[in-house]
Amino acid sequence: MDFDLTKEQKMIRDEVRNFARKEIAPRAEEMERTGEYPYDIIEKMAELGLMGIPYPEKYGGMGGDWVSLHLTIEELSRADVTIGAILDVTASVVAQELYVFGTEEQKQRWLVPIVTGEKIGAFGLTEPDAGSDAASLRTTASLEGDEWILNGTKQFITNIGLDNASLVIVAARVERNGTDDIISTFIVPKDAPGFKLGKRYRKMAWHASATHEVLLSDCRIPRDNLLGDPNRGFAQHLAVLETGRISLAAMAVGVAQACMDEALKHAQGRYQFGQPIFNFQAVQFKLADMAVAIELARNQYLKAAGLKDKGRKHSFEASVAKLYASEIAEKIASDAFQIHGGYGFMEEYPVSRYYKSVKILQVVEGTSEVLRMVIGRMLARGAAR
Ligand SMILES: Cc1cc2nc3c(=O)[nH]c(=O)nc-3n(C[C@H](O)[C@H](O)[C@H](O)COP(=O)(O)OP(=O)(O)OC[C@H]3O[C@@H](n4cnc5c(N)ncnc54)[C@H](O)[C@@H]3O)c2cc1C
Repeated sequence: MDFDLTKEQKMIRDEVRNFARKEIAPRAEEMERTGEYPYDIIEKMAELGLMGIPYPEKYGGMGGDWVSLHLTIEELSRADVTIGAILDVTASVVAQELYVFGTEEQKQRWLVPIVTGEKIGAFGLTEPDAGSDAASLRTTASLEGDEWILNGTKQFITNIGLDNASLVIVAARVERNGTDDIISTFIVPKDAPGFKLGKRYRKMAWHASATHEVLLSDCRIPRDNLLGDPNRGFAQHLAVLETGRISLAAMAVGVAQACMDEALKHAQGRYQFGQPIFNFQAVQFKLADMAVAIELARNQYLKAAGLKDKGRKHSFEASVAKLYASEIAEKIASDAFQIHGGYGFMEEYPVSRYYKSVKILQVVEGTSEVLRMVIGRMLARGAAR
């Protein structure tokens, strides 16, 4: 077992930490307040090669590994979790689905611009009546001549509202033999006839993340936009969402680390009863518990990413990482707020933003309840150990 990062991994982490500290953190409060999308930050991330870290150079990627991508997601999320979310969806999920399941032609046409950061990708699984029970989705696709016709509504879709988003990978139901439906996945360009961007959601946080509804009304796409095996569309989606869980864990660790940084700073600078509140055991123990939980959560997502790099199974590790990291992040945000006292409620203190932004990590890409079910099933199958 090797717990050391390689020289390259440390280099990427340090470079991204520096970039995030200088270019993102000072803008985070304003982005959250105005809801302005961070196009210039995405451009700079593309210049640094961050949009395509684990993909081969022949597709415009960095030829790096999944550990490096996840260290990057943690560092970006430490500065602003919505930037981590952009990278999670476009790099961990969409690019991976195109890379693993796409034809060479699809890779050249759709993957390359996403990996280079010229375009951003979105992922469309959730529907108004199909959330945790994603397999009950109702969007349909039927073949007419050389075109697929898609009808349905996808909801809560991250990234698709960005002007530079090129496509959404849509899971849709295809009728076979009258009753025997299959779920297939399709590359749906944003400029396809019948594609409409629905409402921009009003959210409690993550205002700089472009979450929109997607309306497909007799949406026409070329026959060749079918992605991968038509019978295995749902399995393809689930396979890449497994990586999304590692990314969500890295995002949660980033926010948790930011909470601890702020809480420590505040505890050392705030005097009550003639001394820094850090000196009080009740405060110091909260900080010590934060450090323990962050260390464990970070080790777990790195373990999952490391197994993925080795081509080994990591479903259990990824689910554990996401469940644990998202739950400790909420507790840490709450304790960091508590250490700030009344200041924690004031918008100019970053901890108030962290507190609002962290809860949703227990919902997206598999709720805590669904993850416990997944982990429970793995225990029953003996697949967990
Ligand atoms: C900001 C944001 C961004 C998102 N981005 C995307 C995206 O880019 N693409 C995309 O496809 N989706 C996206 N989603 C959707 C997200 O993945 C879903 O919200 C999530 O899967 C949960 O689905 P739901 O909201 O319909 O909740 P529901 O499935 O209705 O769940 C409600 C509650 O019931 C519980 N529950 C449900 N079934 C069970 C069960 N069998 N046993 C025990 N408890 C259960 C859940 O755990 C939860 O607590 C996004 C959501 C948000 C809020």
